[in-house]
Amino acid sequence: MKTFVRCGQLFTGCEDDARQHQTLVVDEAGVIEYAGPDGDAPRRTRQDRMLDYSRLFVMPGLIDVHTHLAYGNAKSEEDIDLYSPLEFRALRGLFFAQKCAAAGFTALCSPGDAGQISLSIRNAIRAGLFDGPRVMAAGRYLTTHQGLTDWYPTWIGAPETSIGKLVTNIAEAIEEIRRQVKDGVDCIKIALDGIQRRENGELVAAFNQEETDAMVRETHRLGKKAVAHARGREATLYAARSGVDLIFHANHLDDECIAAMLETGSALCPTLTQPKNVIEFTQPHEPAGQKGRPGAARREYEIGCGNWKKARAAGIPMMTGTDTGFAVTPYGEWNARELELFVEDLGFTPAAALRAATEVNARFMSQGDHIGRLEPGRFADVLALDFSPLEDIGGLQDRRRISAVHIAGKEVSIPERDYDPRQVTDFALSNWTELYTRARVAELRGQRLQLAAE
Ligand SMILES: [Zn+2]
Repeated sequence: MKTFVRCGQLFTGCEDDARQHQTLVVDEAGVIEYAGPDGDAPRRTRQDRMLDYSRLFVMPGLIDVHTHLAYGNAKSEEDIDLYSPLEFRALRGLFFAQKCAAAGFTALCSPGDAGQISLSIRNAIRAGLFDGPRVMAAGRYLTTHQGLTDWYPTWIGAPETSIGKLVTNIAEAIEEIRRQVKDGVDCIKIALDGIQRRENGELVAAFNQEETDAMVRETHRLGKKAVAHARGREATLYAARSGVDLIFHANHLDDECIAAMLETGSALCPTLTQPKNVIEFTQPHEPAGQKGRPGAARREYEIGCGNWKKARAAGIPMMTGTDTGFAVTPYGEWNARELELFVEDLGFTPAAALRAATEVNARFMSQGDHIGRLEPGRFADVLALDFSPLEDIGGLQDRRRISAVHIAGKEVSIPERDYDPRQVTDFALSNWTELYTRARVAELRGQRLQLAAE
């Protein structure tokens, strides 16, 4: 039995326009056999199924390359690392992965876990135990005593349940990479930003160039991809020179970084949503908010936008990812905001933003040749929408406008289910922010409007 999908408009991801009067034909394995004009489609037999999306906009499933399935809408470092057992984090992560799928995200990269959370979620979905998105999994971030994720005093170190794995030399780093690859990760995450600043304010990298080169070389030798967290210029430069496949943030990249990225083929995921939500949503009493350092988050964001535009103009592949998994970026609520911000703050056309979140992101993902575009030979990971995101890119954030989500041709149906976030995220003594769901943000905006009116 084949499935014929009649599409009102079809955006394949291969070009910037949507086409009218198109049909997709999907085989029993969920692979697209035909994508083209209704008139040229193969003949339908009596056994075949017809899906009538002739009033809908059909496009590839969205991909987010920066969603932390293990974090659980975290409000603090302790929340990420300490307050819930790994087993609970994995169950919670599966629930949240499903929330992302229901929001139109059919594939996610989860770059950095404690334990083996994301890869267990990936395997449970892949084995058919649960519906959910395709997951590309990393293990613990490799870090040093000078790196991000080594955030406790030295006498505590990085506990086993932390997202950071402290390594003290190249041999230990290589050993950890081999161990993670044996466990089954798809990519290795390196915490490249350090904690010290030079006199000019520049962040010193956590690893030196030689160490970075050695880690990336071993990762590639084992057939895996390397990703790095790097906001600072030096960390970005080391990552780019060593051929890290995907660099997150890179706010302070310069021409030297761009040249190195072009040379080695590094892609960039600037990650706009998390900082933009911090700037727009947080309240003065919250540590992540503006108190104490007014405008700092906004300035960092604006510097980034200037540099990311330069990177794009130079031809660096730009990928969409949100840093979903914090209380300021809860799962499935803001993932699609990244596309809107690519348009508003980086000057992308809506079509270019859609392609960034589909075919460009796919170039980084596992099975990347089989997702991200609607063309023969690729999986039918498909969204059907009751509007055109080419006219309203922000509309993608409204779940009610997503009429259907298919993964490998199978319609994903995930019941809307609430959970009590206070049960899982209110253990820490000091929280960065409260939980900013779409409903909470709308409520706060309403209060502000009311205050202004009074
Ligand atoms: Zn992140």
